[in-house]
Amino acid sequence: MCGSVLGLRAQLGHCDRYLRKTPHKQFQEFQPQSLLYFKKRDFKYGKEQVQSMSHPQLEERSANGSKQGKNMDKILRGVVKYRQTVKKDLVAQFEEVRNNPKPTAVMFTCMDSRMLPTRFTQSKVGDMFVVRNAGNMIPEAPNYGFSSEVSVTTEPAALELAVKRGGINHIVVCGHSDCKAINTLYGLHQCPKNFDVSSPMDQWVRNNGYQSIKKLNERLHKGAAKMTFNCEMSPNQSFEAIIDPMDRLPVEDKLSQVNVLQQLVNIASHSFLSEHFEKKKLFVHGMWFDIYKGEVYIFSREKKRFIVIDDNSIDDLLKELSQYAPAEPNPPKDE
Ligand SMILES: [Zn+2]
Repeated sequence: MCGSVLGLRAQLGHCDRYLRKTPHKQFQEFQPQSLLYFKKRDFKYGKEQVQSMSHPQLEERSANGSKQGKNMDKILRGVVKYRQTVKKDLVAQFEEVRNNPKPTAVMFTCMDSRMLPTRFTQSKVGDMFVVRNAGNMIPEAPNYGFSSEVSVTTEPAALELAVKRGGINHIVVCGHSDCKAINTLYGLHQCPKNFDVSSPMDQWVRNNGYQSIKKLNERLHKGAAKMTFNCEMSPNQSFEAIIDPMDRLPVEDKLSQVNVLQQLVNIASHSFLSEHFEKKKLFVHGMWFDIYKGEVYIFSREKKRFIVIDDNSIDDLLKELSQYAPAEPNPPKDE
């Protein structure tokens, strides 16, 4: 049986609680890493207790390290910190879900180091699959399997694993502001001569971001008007959207939001998901994280725009979700 809708609703509620508890300042300025002290944190139940601890041994090792070595030192010191603080609790959580993991969603998000999806949804061990890449892009179906030169990427494979084999009912695509991949895509659009054929990054964003650029052009040409996102393979997944109705976002962030919605179309292009969409067993959601404000948004199909998840919006959003994705979808047959 699938309790996934309830699970996703719980995660939206967690977003709301995150907004009430988490200071936004940490996204605005990074604290310099001290060699004399490090912070002991307890992430249990999403709470963070911070206290300074002296660690002369680590200080000495860092002081002797090369510049490159220090970067790796940070990771190793993190492991030591993990052992001292969260390991015991985490292992207990792994044991808890060992025989009965109940992930509620698969989230596709950006590899950006500032994106902390399990933090801003307050997800626990076993709650959510996370797939990360540059620009949270999911290649559309024609990009694999239909030509003589088959090139299967991770993302469709992850979709199949999560949905067909794992019985997941919710797919979330989460983009963010100031995204380097999206900035690259926009930069190449502005100056195509900068495209480097030998650059995997340029190839990745251009191949998978082409439709997003077309949609951005439509947005810029029409202004803040309704745009249609058509899903040919699964027409019931088509939707309308108004991107940045108040025209407050820079053009790159407009593209980032367009890109999230374009991925919902790309996901629906995969024929192996058609039956799941037709039987209303699978639901896709667009989310967006404003890094410098720490705000989390979800795309409302009803309101046709991104809505910030907070105390004021949470009830309406959950109500809409319960209508769009009923709490008891048909259980998967073959999983
Ligand atoms: Zn990014």
